[in-house]
Amino acid sequence: GTATGDALTRTTCGYCGVGCTLDVLTSAGAVTAVLPARDGSVNRGHACVKGRFAHGYLTSPERLTQPLVRRDGRLEPTGWDEALDRVADGLRAAVVAGGPDAVAAISSARATNEENYLVQKFMRVAIGTNNVDNCSRLCHSPSAAGLTASFGLSGGTDSFDDAERADCLLVVGANPVEAHPVVGARLLQGALRGASLVVVDPRAVGLAEHADVHLRPRPGTNVALFHGLAHVLLAEGLTDSDFLRERATGLPELTELLADYPPDRVADITGVPAADLITAARLYGRAELPAIFYGLGVTEHLHGTDGVRALSNLAILRGAVGTGRGFGVNPLRGQNNVQGASDMGALPDVLPGYGKVTDAAVRARAREVWGVPVPQRPGLRIPEMFTAARDGRLRALWIIGEDVCATDPDTSQVARALDACPLVVCSELFLSQTARHADVVLPVASWLEKDGTFVNFDRRFQRVRPAVPPPDQARTDFAVVHALAGVLGVDLGCPTPADALAECARLAPVFGGISHDRLDREGAVPWPCPGPDRPGEATLYRERFATPDGRAHLSAAPYLPPGEQPDAAYPLVLVTGRRWAHYNSGSMTRRGGNLSLDPADVLDLHADDAARYGLRDGAPVTVESRHGRARLIARVGEQVAPGQVFCSFHFPASGVNSLTSGHADTVTSCPEYKVTAVRVGAP
Ligand code: SF4
Repeated sequence: GTATGDALTRTTCGYCGVGCTLDVLTSAGAVTAVLPARDGSVNRGHACVKGRFAHGYLTSPERLTQPLVRRDGRLEPTGWDEALDRVADGLRAAVVAGGPDAVAAISSARATNEENYLVQKFMRVAIGTNNVDNCSRLCHSPSAAGLTASFGLSGGTDSFDDAERADCLLVVGANPVEAHPVVGARLLQGALRGASLVVVDPRAVGLAEHADVHLRPRPGTNVALFHGLAHVLLAEGLTDSDFLRERATGLPELTELLADYPPDRVADITGVPAADLITAARLYGRAELPAIFYGLGVTEHLHGTDGVRALSNLAILRGAVGTGRGFGVNPLRGQNNVQGASDMGALPDVLPGYGKVTDAAVRARAREVWGVPVPQRPGLRIPEMFTAARDGRLRALWIIGEDVCATDPDTSQVARALDACPLVVCSELFLSQTARHADVVLPVASWLEKDGTFVNFDRRFQRVRPAVPPPDQARTDFAVVHALAGVLGVDLGCPTPADALAECARLAPVFGGISHDRLDREGAVPWPCPGPDRPGEATLYRERFATPDGRAHLSAAPYLPPGEQPDAAYPLVLVTGRRWAHYNSGSMTRRGGNLSLDPADVLDLHADDAARYGLRDGAPVTVESRHGRARLIARVGEQVAPGQVFCSFHFPASGVNSLTSGHADTVTSCPEYKVTAVRVGAP
């Protein structure tokens, strides 16, 4: 049919990290249609079923429209004055009892840059702690750590537009056809145009059927696989010796390590046939312009940061980063603003622009801009916040837009932490599982109701504009932070989102040339962008890497096994991930038409395992791990390998994250969602 409306608002999609430009049609203050912009910077007239159709949640009768406070054990509606007073009193009491570090905030990769900037400023300036983290901790924190260690900056190395010219696409631990459909389609186009396609994923994901070779490593064995590929590159002379000599460091150590990773041994560890490994290494190694894209299948592991670094080794060995002879290493970000939330310093160890809080010069610069000293000690990461709450050290926790009781691993421990914390505040769209544990619930605006910017997966800043107002008493997170600071008697400055980004640009030179005005004129600008007359660097490291010595750093970390292994009691490995119609915990996509497209979660399992455990296609199945139990519907097919099962995390009611373990990346604490030993059976 024909989309109609009285007004059109151009904005950026609030679901995945592709960052599609959308034109939102509204009539009488309600969204009537969402259309992909033909001149969208990334999407060029395309959008997926989430961005286009999943907006029914805006007017859901379950939407929170007024603050709630807990009285006599029950959450009851109230006005903003009482709600903010309760929060302010609780924060003051926490600081009196335990000092500023008794307070923490979890900011949101779903909030705008400006909101993230303001939240971290509130914690550092109004409270005086670095206890601020964001949900990238649970997905791409190993990308930030790994890419920074290898190359110097915490973002993908290249522009997706350039990577379209790649003649070899290495897609690892990602299912972009479902999770990032617009990028998935462009990668597929690349393969159909003639680029070779190497897919690395335990499952037969959408791109795999078009791949020249599909490597299916056992979950948790990525590092061995990447070292095996690197071994072949070295053994067959498929490396760039000039680049390695002039622009990289660490080759002798890596060469020594790789001697232990010949294809036959790697085949034993990973289950990938040695011949396929060699074919994949040759496709990547002999390409003129290879590009790597990867997802959470690389990061969400006990050794996720090692995985990012071992994958980056391939681009360095090949001289395919910072040279124009290839398109580097590029994380496919799951959440719309997971890059931006981290860029804005909503992290416990860095300020906006990634200056370390332990660096005196960085703190001095922040003091100049903010007018107050910045705490020096790095703050708590999200899992550490829960531990501190259970121990009684954390006395107030503000959770913005994250349903930690549904989405964090080993959820029973998360709920215990919240119940032990004297003040839990949730800023939410709906009464989430987490909000049910809160003392104060604040109703906030969604991405279609607010003003600001997001940063997409290849570092493009783009504008977010309100198409409709928030319902009833709901406010933007930006307004809530300001209001709470006001009750505490603190003026955070930067009254508008545009002011906040301008202040951030003054503080962090990598964003120095980015402003709302400029984005309104130009549409998208990538960082680093040090000045208003500079275009922004879509491709990084042309002159030097951003590491202290200016070189790319090879990593010689050995393969170490995952935190859990299947055994006789728990013989299968569960991998979790995304499906095409839904987004994360599904709080928005399940409230609207997308639910009819994908109405319930299923457990994918192989026909051999279905037969072994007496399960039929479509029948209920119980899944048990060492940590918990979930109930799903069995879907028998060939997408998963024997010995593995897969389900999404879009339906928290099925209890999937009660199954996942507390194992986490040894560098960043990112949970190991991708390897959980389970058993299955009929209920
Ligand atoms: Fe684009 Fe991702 Fe939004 Fe889909 S969910 S429309 S691919 S930004």
